[in-house]
Amino acid sequence: MSRFRNRLTLTYVLMVGLSVLVAGIYMAYSFKESHIKQLEQTMVQEIKMLDTTLDWRSFDTAEERSEYYTSWAKALQQATETRVTFVLADGTVIGDSSYDVNSMDNHLQREEIQQAANGYFGSIIRFSNTLNENMLYVTGPIQHPGKFEGYVRLAKGLAEVEAGVRQFLEYVVIGLAGLFLAAAIVSYRIAQKLTRPMEDMTRVALRIAKRDYSARVEATGKDELGQLGSAINAMADSLEEQVNEIRENESRLRSVLDHMMNGIVMVDANGRVGLMNGKAEQLFGLSCKECLGKNYTDIRIPSELQVIISEVMMYRNYVQHETTVYYPEERLLDIHAVPVYYTDEEWAGLLLMMQDLSELRRLERMRSEFVANVSHELKTPIAAVKGFAETLLNGAIQDAETAHSFVQIIHDESERLNRLIGDLLELSKIQSRQVPMQYSPVHLPSLLEQTVHILKKNADRKEIEITLEVTDDLFIEADEDRLRQIVLNLLSNAINYTPEEGKVKLCARPIRVDSSIDSELDEQIEISITDTGIGIPKKDLPRIFERFYRVDKARSRGSGGTGLGLSIVKHLVESHQGTLKVESEVGIGSTFTIVLPIIQDAPIDFE
Ligand code: ADP
Repeated sequence: MSRFRNRLTLTYVLMVGLSVLVAGIYMAYSFKESHIKQLEQTMVQEIKMLDTTLDWRSFDTAEERSEYYTSWAKALQQATETRVTFVLADGTVIGDSSYDVNSMDNHLQREEIQQAANGYFGSIIRFSNTLNENMLYVTGPIQHPGKFEGYVRLAKGLAEVEAGVRQFLEYVVIGLAGLFLAAAIVSYRIAQKLTRPMEDMTRVALRIAKRDYSARVEATGKDELGQLGSAINAMADSLEEQVNEIRENESRLRSVLDHMMNGIVMVDANGRVGLMNGKAEQLFGLSCKECLGKNYTDIRIPSELQVIISEVMMYRNYVQHETTVYYPEERLLDIHAVPVYYTDEEWAGLLLMMQDLSELRRLERMRSEFVANVSHELKTPIAAVKGFAETLLNGAIQDAETAHSFVQIIHDESERLNRLIGDLLELSKIQSRQVPMQYSPVHLPSLLEQTVHILKKNADRKEIEITLEVTDDLFIEADEDRLRQIVLNLLSNAINYTPEEGKVKLCARPIRVDSSIDSELDEQIEISITDTGIGIPKKDLPRIFERFYRVDKARSRGSGGTGLGLSIVKHLVESHQGTLKVESEVGIGSTFTIVLPIIQDAPIDFE
């Protein structure tokens, strides 16, 4: 833009300069002309005066004549600083103030003499080689019959005039330069005033082009430039609004896509990946960056998916397919490929939606396994009850002793059935969160003592020593009944799976754990149950919290276990926002450790 301003300034300056120059030259020329004219008139007056005042005489000899006129000429030159020449009608020079007349040639053909010969005053400017300057010659005819007939020529050097003109020109040049400067400054100012809004607009347009939509033009007056500025601002306003809207929509769409449970991939009509959400990245173990803009055949996606994309690209039909992918991990995917059109005709590409069915299938499998397990677990005691009842009916009832032992078995098995059903109901209650947690401050030493007391008989039967280590006045916010059940289940397991004369230790102490959310120290309580029992093999450790999982089925059943105890414990601990872990060594013993927060956060109720 400054180039435009410079050019504008230069144009102004040139125009002003040129006019000043032309005016100057014209003035110098007319100054010179009028000076010469004036000089010429003065010389004409002088000739006329000479004509009337000079004592014109005739002489007998040429020498006398030239002597007379030459002396006059010289006298006149002295008085007027003008060269004076007397020329006879035939062109003979008879007197000259500057030269010897004898050496001068005939002057008849001189232009100024010729003009005077025609009866008027002749005048001419000629360069004099002898005086080395321009001379103005003015000649007038003189008629004094019998005395002098011819011409008087006066000549004056023009050096003075020319010097005057030169001086004048100098002034003109100085004035011109000043004017030039003033014109340049004024022009620059004008050009600046004219171009500044345009520069401003250009800057704003460039900023908008570089996506800075907050740029606005300052000039918004009533003139054309102001209107242009207002138009640019209005354009920027609407652009900013639209871009914001687009950005908002984009971020809305982005957040929807990123929080979707399904993987979404969009492939354009040329087969290039145009969009990929977080779930898709996770499903394929790829990052969006390495895929966007690339052809679907060039990215590392399962080959079956590539086949599906190719099929939709070719036939533009809807495809649904279930497939298992093995990278980055094994997953069962339900893939829907939908052809997408911009308008009815224009083919835009395809949209792939992928649902990870692995978890769903796992849950389905677990559910059916659970049903099978429950049926199996229920079947065993029922079969026993049924078998022994039948035997009794078939006559065994007659034998009082046998009948008693059979009825005892029926009673024990129905007890077991009862426990099993009770545990199952408890578990489903916890899982479905039907009964809300009833938090209250619980005095932990009392609760632990009670629990030990309940199981004391069982322990005594096996001569197992139970020790309780607990800090006095230890309170915890918990659902008391459920907390008791946790400890009861773990303690009864410890007694169950510890041989006679073993030891069981119950410890509770507060611990401080550095919370990762805020650096405040969270207070927690650690409850650990250690036994010197049979222990759990390493391979079984990860599974013992599963429903119905038992390390040794025969022994567990012998101990009256249902296989649901630890599962219930795990769920109850999690309901208290606690953690549960186990360490065990076969033949040495096991330690179950629970860590519970002292204070429960306000529960988040999703229902
Ligand atoms: P169960 O009713 O059979 O005891 P649990 O869910 O309470 O069922 O326990 C699951 C399995 O974990 C048990 O069958 C047992 O094999 C093992 N187990 C639990 N606690 C102990 C322990 N303290 N020592 C050794 N094994 C244990």
